Amino acid sequence: MSNKSEYSYEYTHILKKDKNCVEKADKFCEDYKMFMNSAKTERECVKYIISHAKNYVEFDKNKIKSIKPYDKFYINNRDKSVVLITIGEEPLDNGFNFVVSHIDSPRLDLKPNPVFENEEICYFHTHYYGGIKKYQWPTIPLSMHGRIFKEDGSYVDVNFGEKDDEPRFIITDLLPHLAKEQENRTLREGIKGEELNIVIGSIPKDFEDDKVKEAVKTNTLKILYDTFGITEKDFARAEIEFVPAFKAYDIGFDRSLIAAYGQDDRVCAYPALMAELENVKPKKTSITVFTDKEEIGSEGNTGMVSEFLFDIVEDLCDIAGVKARDCYRKSICLSSDVNSAYDPTFSDVFEKMNSSYINRGVVLTKYTGHGGKSGSNDASAETMAKVIKLMDKEKVVWQIGELGKVDIGGGGTIAKYMSQRNVDTIDVGVAVLSMHSPYELTSKLDIYHTYLAYKAFLLNE
Ligand code: MN
Ligand code: MN
Repeated sequence: MSNKSEYSYEYTHILKKDKNCVEKADKFCEDYKMFMNSAKTERECVKYIISHAKNYVEFDKNKIKSIKPYDKFYINNRDKSVVLITIGEEPLDNGFNFVVSHIDSPRLDLKPNPVFENEEICYFHTHYYGGIKKYQWPTIPLSMHGRIFKEDGSYVDVNFGEKDDEPRFIITDLLPHLAKEQENRTLREGIKGEELNIVIGSIPKDFEDDKVKEAVKTNTLKILYDTFGITEKDFARAEIEFVPAFKAYDIGFDRSLIAAYGQDDRVCAYPALMAELENVKPKKTSITVFTDKEEIGSEGNTGMVSEFLFDIVEDLCDIAGVKARDCYRKSICLSSDVNSAYDPTFSDVFEKMNSSYINRGVVLTKYTGHGGKSGSNDASAETMAKVIKLMDKEKVVWQIGELGKVDIGGGGTIAKYMSQRNVDTIDVGVAVLSMHSPYELTSKLDIYHTYLAYKAFLLNE
C-alpha cells in the first residue's frame, strides 16, 4: 500500500458513496412522514405497528405448541409497547437478532387534576415528560392525545387538534416589553415547569347567571363532556399527552431534510418496522422491539427495565425446548436510537472528529454515558467489528458518533438493559439536529441508510 487513501479513512457525505439513493430515500421518506403525522404517541405507534403487521399472529404461549421457520408473532404490551418476532431457519440457541427502538418522546403530560380557571381563562396544568428545554414549548400549536377511562369502565382514545378543522391549544409567553426580569432568568428557568399551563377556553357558561362559580371552567368541562363524554373526575384515570400539532415537512430548497415532532426515536422505529415487516426468510430469529418510557429512564412495566420482553423470550424458548440464556449469549442487539448530529452553530460542545453528521449515514455509537463513559454500554471491539463488516458488505453508509465533547454532558439509551442480559449490544441510529425540541431535524438519506442497515442486519447475520 503506497497511496495515502489506503491507510487513512474519511467519513463523507452519503452521496459520495451511494450516488443513486436520492430517489429511493425520497420515496421511503414520503411514507415516513405519513407515519410521523399519524402516530405521535406510544399508544398511536402501537396501533400503527400492529395494524401494519398483518401476517403476524398474536403470541399466546398456551395456544402455540410448536414454532417453525418464518412464523411471525406479535405481542402487545398494554397498548404502549410491542414486540414483533420472525422465526429464523437456525435453532433459537444460535442467537437472536434484536432491534430495539423506543416510541415514547418528550412531551407535556396532564396532571391528574389538571383543569383550572384564572381571570376567566381556562387552563390545563401539565407536568413535562422527558428532557425538554421548557422555553421551547410556549407559543406553538399543541394537540391532545391519550386515553381516558370513564366511571363505567369504558374508555375513550383522544386524538384532537391534528385535523385542519379542529382547534389547537397553546401556552403563552411574556411580551418582550415586560420581560426585563424574565430575561434575566437562566435559560433553564426562562419558562418554569409550573408556567407550562395550556390555554383551553375563555367563554363562561351562562352570561345571565352570576351565581355560576368559575363559569369558564364549567363551560369548558361541558364541552369536554359533549365531545368526549368525560367529566373532571375522569382525568384521574387518564393518560393525556400534549404534543406539537406540527405536521412533518420537507426542509430546504433541495428538500433533503425532514422536520417533525418526536423523531427521537420514531426516526429509528419506522425503519426498524419496515425492515422487520420485510424480513421474510431470515437465518436467525429476529425480535424487533418498540419500547416505551425510554425518555424517563426506561422505567415501568412498558419500559426496558421490565421483565416483559425477557419473559416472552423465555416462553418462546420453552416452546422450542432451549434455554433463554443459551440464546442471549449468542445474540446481537442493535439498540436503535438517535445520536446528536454535529451542529455548526453550536460547534463548541462537539468534538469534530468523533461527532456524527447529518448525511453521513447510519451512526454506530460505541458508547454513550457521561463523565468517563459512566452509565454506558460501551460496545466491544468484537461487536463493532461484526457490525462494520456487515455494513461494508451490504454497502450501507455508516459513521461513528460520540455524544458531544468529553465531560460536557451526556445521555443514555436502552443498550445497557439488553447488554446486562448477556447480549452483545451496539447503538445504531439516525443523527438528529435540535434533538428533544418540539420540531427535530433529520436527513432523508440518513433515514434511508438506517433502514438499509436494519434490513441487512435482520437478513444476514
Ligand atoms: Mn432516544
Ligand atoms: Mn431522547
